[in-house]
Amino acid sequence: MHAPRPPLLIIYTGGTLGMVETPQGLAPGGDFEPRLREALNRLPPARRASLPDFDFIATPSPIDSSGATPADWQDLASLVDQHQQAYSGIVILHGTDTLSWTASSLAFQLQGIDKPVVVTGAMHPLEAEGSDALDNVEGALRFAALPDLQEVALYFAGRLLRGVRARKWNTQAEDAFISPNHPPLGERVDDAPVLYPGRGLAEHQRGTRRFELPDYRALGPSPVVRTALWPGITAAQLGALLLDDRVKGALLEVWGGGNIADDPALVEVLAQARGEGKLVTAISQCPEGRIDIGAYAAGQGLAQAEVLAGDDMTPEAVMTKLIHLLAQPLSDEDRRRHFLTSLVGER
Ligand code: ASP
Repeated sequence: MHAPRPPLLIIYTGGTLGMVETPQGLAPGGDFEPRLREALNRLPPARRASLPDFDFIATPSPIDSSGATPADWQDLASLVDQHQQAYSGIVILHGTDTLSWTASSLAFQLQGIDKPVVVTGAMHPLEAEGSDALDNVEGALRFAALPDLQEVALYFAGRLLRGVRARKWNTQAEDAFISPNHPPLGERVDDAPVLYPGRGLAEHQRGTRRFELPDYRALGPSPVVRTALWPGITAAQLGALLLDDRVKGALLEVWGGGNIADDPALVEVLAQARGEGKLVTAISQCPEGRIDIGAYAAGQGLAQAEVLAGDDMTPEAVMTKLIHLLAQPLSDEDRRRHFLTSLVGER
């Protein structure tokens, strides 16, 4: 006889799926656990019966995720850390606006996790007519019950994406998330959660050091900045952003396969930022594909300033990785090396 598997844990953090109408518009509603259990009980009996059992907790004040900060990601990771041993998988209910940011940050903080952490949300509140909320929670629960899934994943509209590869891509459609440079990890086929073989992190992470949970608050407010280049950007404009003393890392979204304007003053700003010990990184502003710094003469300036190539990472992955690396007691050389290495399948 096998011992019964421990249940799953749902952590509710806010977001549209739990919201109710207020005079100011949709806002996080209370008492989400009974509302959710009641909705799940209305599923067809066979589907209800095959759902895994779960316990439920909520963060102290559920929020609209548009207000989330790195401190919220840190608190959520430590909540998962506190509870994960007692559960076989974790489902996190979250607003969609910054869902991919939270998923990316959790992937770095929970590096080496050997069980499923599935984040999900919805485009419509649970009680709205035709809402996608129940379907998304159901799918997330089914994937979170699979022991072969050993990473932070994002479930939405029938597809399971690697959390650190996902992006919100549509403000209205129910399949609002994409994973531009990595295929889905799985799909719900009828009601069954199906993981595609060979795509998960289980092997890759084996033996990895577990859970790095550094203090993001100690970095101060907004230690990393991000900008996309535009035609005509000046060195003064770039410098105002990058050369601020409080800034320790930056993401530049450059042209195409890794190019910037042929402007020595821009390169000078990048080199100065590097000289000040800042981690300056680049990805393309094209949503798909990787960069290859130096393939064109127009990319030489980035190479000269030792800008770190983010390959095909999402902006969310780069920014959360920078925060994660900056918050750890690492040398500049180690930070640069870790940035260029795939830690959790992010590149
Ligand atoms: N503003 C909401 C949030 O991110 C949007 C949503 O959940 O879909 O919390």
